[in-house]
Amino acid sequence: MTIKRKTGQMVMWWLLPIIIFVGIWWHYIGYIVLAMMIFFLTLSVFKGRYWCGWFCPRGSFLERILKFVSMNTPIPSFAKNLVFRSAIFCGMIAFMLHRLIQTNGDLDKIGFVFVIMCIATSIIAIILGIIYNPRIWCAFCPMGTLQGLLGREKYILQVSDACTECGLCEKVCPVNIDPGSFKKSGKVSNFDCIKCSNCIEKCPKNALKFQENVMRAQSSCIIG
Ligand code: SF4
Ligand code: SF4
Repeated sequence: MTIKRKTGQMVMWWLLPIIIFVGIWWHYIGYIVLAMMIFFLTLSVFKGRYWCGWFCPRGSFLERILKFVSMNTPIPSFAKNLVFRSAIFCGMIAFMLHRLIQTNGDLDKIGFVFVIMCIATSIIAIILGIIYNPRIWCAFCPMGTLQGLLGREKYILQVSDACTECGLCEKVCPVNIDPGSFKKSGKVSNFDCIKCSNCIEKCPKNALKFQENVMRAQSSCIIG
């Protein structure tokens, strides 16, 4: 599964520089950003932040390329702070709407709004990603937050009693979640989980599964 995810990300990250550099001259490429937004917000209703972990061009770039120059420190608490996240969310949406209204319906200018949004957010993501964790942006990305909220009850990571709280899973989590710490409740209720499966593959006790897999296992037991 890791190989599949890595392959997908290695294909997808190229879209980021293409959108940025081509978008400066040819604004219509911004509609790819809009199409992706519609797609991942729809997907999130069923799978939470699955897009972030598997296909997001910026997330892929940060995780696969920026990691080589990142300080790779843990994501600081300010980035996960709800007030900070809400301020970024409202600020970005207000900026986008303001720019969209200014276009007066001009399709070329509308496309450029999405290019500009992509450039501005990527600059922030890259600077912070070098100083801290490569995926620090994902901790407060407005679109990531929206996906998490839309799919907060979907495709949830389950922690079984087999967990020994060894902490190995936390070490491979790109967004610094500690699945073992959710053993008591039995499910990772943090909606920022990007469904990457790194922790599942790392766990020596086979204690982690996504909800969908658990349901499948249960139904096959009933059938069997
Ligand atoms: S790696 Fe497995 S056993 Fe260890 S804390 Fe994580 S879920 Fe628990
Ligand atoms: S908790 Fe597991 S599946 Fe979720 S982001 Fe972290 S490593 Fe990936």
